Amino acid sequence: MRFNSMSSVNGIGTRMRTNAKIFMLKGAQKGLRFIQGHPRLTEKAQNVLDTITPMPALGPELVPVEGGQLGHDVNAAVDRLSNKVSLHLMQSLGNESTREWGITDQHENVRETVRKFCDTDENKKFFKTLHKTDRFPRGLFEVMTESMGLLGAIIPEQYGGSDMDARAISIIMEELAYFSPAVALSYDIAGGLIPHILMEHGSKEQKEKYLTAIARGDTIASFGLTDTSSGTDLSSMKTSAVRNGNEFVINGSKRFITNATEADLIVLFAKARGEEKSESSFSAFLVEPKVLQGLSVHQMNDKMGCKGSGTAELFFDDVRIPAESLIGNIGDGRTIALDSLNLARIEISAFVLGMARRALDIAADYVQNKKSFGAPLATKQAIQKDFGEMRVKLEMAKQMIYRAAWLADQGKDYRYVAAEAKVAAVSLASEIVDMAQRKLGGDGYMDEYEISRIVGDLRVAFPGEGDNDILQIVLGAETLGVRKSL
Ligand SMILES: Cc1cc2nc3c(=O)[nH]c(=O)nc-3n(C[C@H](O)[C@H](O)[C@H](O)COP(=O)(O)OP(=O)(O)OC[C@H]3O[C@@H](n4cnc5c(N)ncnc54)[C@H](O)[C@@H]3O)c2cc1C
Repeated sequence: MRFNSMSSVNGIGTRMRTNAKIFMLKGAQKGLRFIQGHPRLTEKAQNVLDTITPMPALGPELVPVEGGQLGHDVNAAVDRLSNKVSLHLMQSLGNESTREWGITDQHENVRETVRKFCDTDENKKFFKTLHKTDRFPRGLFEVMTESMGLLGAIIPEQYGGSDMDARAISIIMEELAYFSPAVALSYDIAGGLIPHILMEHGSKEQKEKYLTAIARGDTIASFGLTDTSSGTDLSSMKTSAVRNGNEFVINGSKRFITNATEADLIVLFAKARGEEKSESSFSAFLVEPKVLQGLSVHQMNDKMGCKGSGTAELFFDDVRIPAESLIGNIGDGRTIALDSLNLARIEISAFVLGMARRALDIAADYVQNKKSFGAPLATKQAIQKDFGEMRVKLEMAKQMIYRAAWLADQGKDYRYVAAEAKVAAVSLASEIVDMAQRKLGGDGYMDEYEISRIVGDLRVAFPGEGDNDILQIVLGAETLGVRKSL
C-alpha cells in the first residue's frame, strides 16, 4: 500500500522554468527542487527557505543548482522539506540542555514532524485498516523513510542516515505509538534495534552494505532471538549454526519474530560451532531470508494486538549462509543481544508512553462530552480524581524514560536505569490504559473508540525486550548483591 500524498511530492517539477535561485534536496528525495523568491511560494514556504539556506550544516542535504522547474505543489513540498531539515539538522545544531533531560527545540521538531505525518485523515484511516488486515505496511515505511528519513534516523550520516540520539528515537517511538503501536513496534526493530547492532558490532563491510540499505528504506530488518522452545532462557536455545567450509549451516526454528513476514534482513542468534569443535558458543549472524533455500516463514495470525507488525515463525532446514555473515566472533551473541536490548528497553518504554497518552486523550474527550445525571462526566469529582491519578502516572513514566535516554546520550552506564524505566513505564501505562478504558463504560469495549485496541497492543510490552518479571528479578538480585547480569 502506498500513500497518495507522496505522489504529489514526487510530481513536482513539470511546470515552469525560472532563473531564480534553486535548491535541490539530495539523498532520499533526490530531484526535489525548491525555488527561493518564486511568486507562487506562500509566505510560510518562503520563510522556510530563507531560514534554512544560510545554514552550513545543510551542505550535504541541500545544494543550489542552476536552472530547474517548479510544480504546483511546491508549497507542500517546502513544508515537508522543513520537516526533513529539522530531522536532519538536529544533531548538527547540538543539544543544549534547555529543558528537562536536555530536550531541545530540535527534538520537539522531530516530534512535530512525526505527528504531522501521522495525523492526517488518510493515515489515521490507514492505521485503523492495519488492525483489521494484519498486513505489514511496507509501502508506509518506504514513504516515511523517503519523506522523513525515518528508518535511517539513528544511522550515522556517512551511511545516509540522520545520526539522531536516544532521546530523538524515543520521541519518534512515542509519537508513532500514539497513532499506531503496530507501526511503532516494527520501527523499533527495523529502525532502532538492528541499526544499533550493526553500528556497534558490524564490520566495515556489513555496515556499508546494510546500514545504507536500511537508511534508504530498501531493507526491512528483523531480530531473531526467541527460539520455538525458549525465550527468556537463552541457554536452552536449540537453533544451531555449524561451520562447513566457507559457510555456516543453520537448523532450528524461531517464533514471535516481528517484521519477519517482510524481512530482507534478519539478525539471527544461534548456537554456533566453528572449525574447531571446542569453538562452540552463542553467536549472531546477518541472514538475508529472501535469497535462501530451506528457510520457511509463517505469519502468526490471531494475535492480541500490534496487528500489521509482521509477526512470524521461521523454520531453518539446512540453510547455508556465507561465513562472513557472522557478526563479530563466535561467542559474541550474548553481548550483542543484551547490549542491543538495553537501548531497545528505552524505546519500548516510549512506545507504551505514546499509547498511554492516546488512551488518556480518548478518555478525556469522552468524559467531556458524555453526560450522566444531567452533566458531563468531566464535572464529577470521582472522574477528576482518576484523571489526576493518570496524569501523575504518565509524568512518572515520562521522567524515567527520558532520564534513561539522556543518560544513554551522555555515554553513561544506563543499563539499570533503562531496565527500571521499562518495568515502571509498562506497568504505569497499563494502569493508565485500564483506567482510561473504564471511563468509556460500554463504549470502551467497542472498536470505534480504539481504546480496546490499545489494551491489546500494550500487552506486548510486558514480555518484549526482556520480560518485566525477569527484569525485576535482575534488578532485585543486583540490589541484594547476589548477581549482576544486564
Ligand atoms: C508480538 C510479539 C513480538 C515479538 N517480537 C520478537 C522479536 O522481534 N524477536 C524476538 O526474538 N522475540 C520477539 N518476541 C518474543 C518475546 O521477546 C518473548 O515472548 C519473551 O522474551 C519471553 O519469552 P517466552 O515467550 O518464551 O516466555 P518465557 O521465557 O517462557 O516466560 C514465560 C513467563 O515465565 C516467566 N519466567 C521465565 N523464567 C523465569 C524465571 N527464571 N523466574 C521467574 N519467572 C520466569 C516470565 O517472566 C514470563 O512471565 C515477541 C513476542 C511477541 C508476543
